[in-house]
Amino acid sequence: MAENNTEAEQNTTDEVIENSSEEKKQKIEKPKKFQTLRGFQDLLPDFQDYYTMVKKAVRHRSRQSGFRRITTPIMEETGVFVRALGESTDVVSKEMFNMESRSGVSMTLKPEATAGIVRAYIEHGMHTLPQPVQLYSIEPQFRYDRPQKGRFRQFHQCDFEILGVKDASIDAQMIHMSYKILEDLGISERVDLQINSLGSAKNRSDYIEALKDFFFDKVQHLSPESQARLETNPLRILDSKDEDDQILVSMAPKLKDFLDDESSKYYETVKDYLRELNVPFFENEGLVRGLDYYCDTVFEFWDRSLGSQNAIGGGGRYDGLAELLGGKHTPAVGMAMGVERIIDHMKAAGIKPPIKDNVQVFVAQLGEEGKKKALKITTNLRDKGIHSIGGMGKSSMKAQLKMADKCKAPWCIILGEIEIRDGNAILRDMKLGKQEIVKLETVEEEVLKKLHCKPDTYTLGE
Ligand code: AMP
Repeated sequence: MAENNTEAEQNTTDEVIENSSEEKKQKIEKPKKFQTLRGFQDLLPDFQDYYTMVKKAVRHRSRQSGFRRITTPIMEETGVFVRALGESTDVVSKEMFNMESRSGVSMTLKPEATAGIVRAYIEHGMHTLPQPVQLYSIEPQFRYDRPQKGRFRQFHQCDFEILGVKDASIDAQMIHMSYKILEDLGISERVDLQINSLGSAKNRSDYIEALKDFFFDKVQHLSPESQARLETNPLRILDSKDEDDQILVSMAPKLKDFLDDESSKYYETVKDYLRELNVPFFENEGLVRGLDYYCDTVFEFWDRSLGSQNAIGGGGRYDGLAELLGGKHTPAVGMAMGVERIIDHMKAAGIKPPIKDNVQVFVAQLGEEGKKKALKITTNLRDKGIHSIGGMGKSSMKAQLKMADKCKAPWCIILGEIEIRDGNAILRDMKLGKQEIVKLETVEEEVLKKLHCKPDTYTLGE
């Protein structure tokens, strides 16, 4: 029939074929492959092994020191951060993820933990609890920063706050606990603790005035960044990396000369306690921290080889913050450490986290009956605290054994059709490639004997 087609008919047929292949092309056009947003990252299982270790150290040290855990919402009303951190700070002026609710409320993804925790302390009347109130959190934070090594738009912080009491021993305990966590994680030798005192709010504002006076006729010699800071946040000129700025800063008035007796004595006592607790530190007159809310003690853990760049953590005293957020006067001290940077250091120091996700038994099966028995054995073993998985979705025995190998399971239980028929199971030592036949009803017991490990069970309430 095809040979008899007229030209017109042929054209139509070609068109139909062409049209249908065009349709097909459209249909099979691949959907867009999405990726994480810039500066955001998936925390994959290998990272989680380290993260679990960090969380464990944080939880233990916090519990030992009387802290309780708090989680504040991931978003707050923007005003919480603007008021707390200060309009002119880098975080507020450049780095916040702001959005508006449908009803027009300005909301911000939290860029740091302290402001939200102080808001919660006030909102829940925690000043009526025995003081100090000690809280810790392990949470994601969000800053619209330029992503680079060690700097993300979503990162994670362990944060500690002690609210309600002012005493140099509290500042020293906060620093000591952070130092101990870094020691537990094997990286205390990779960081240097830098400390300074900003004095009282009055000392600080007097000093800022003196700095402004000093730089008044030297503005043109400052870097453009420091020129802008002279207007918005003059203290930040002190930690400028620019060489010319640093020369001028070395001639500028010194913050320590503006501390009143009380603040000087407080600072001396903090240092004394740190020596008593054997926490090594460096005094750093240029350390100001970026945020407005700090007074008296400030400190940071710096990368020993890179300095202030990529600090691991930092914090300080913030006695005036609760009042700024509408609460009563509440002296407080806090500190945050970046999880990603801690983990980078752990990796560089060769620290290996304990891996607890290892598969211990793989159950391979064939046939309907084999599948049922495999399901039962796998779940029974899990109840007994043995990490077990089965090749349920795989059809051939070869494919299942390949998977057992890939999972690095040391033992494999094989339930072939013959074994099931005879009431048996094969127990295979995957490393040696040796196997034996055991009775189906004893196979769980047998594999437990072979594993001779502590079962991974848990008791709620313990
Ligand atoms: P800060 O309050 O800004 O000093 O932050 C405390 C700690 O959080 C820092 O020392 C870092 O370890 C970590 N951190 C801050 N910003 C980022 C970021 N953008 N990416 C990763 N970690 C960060």
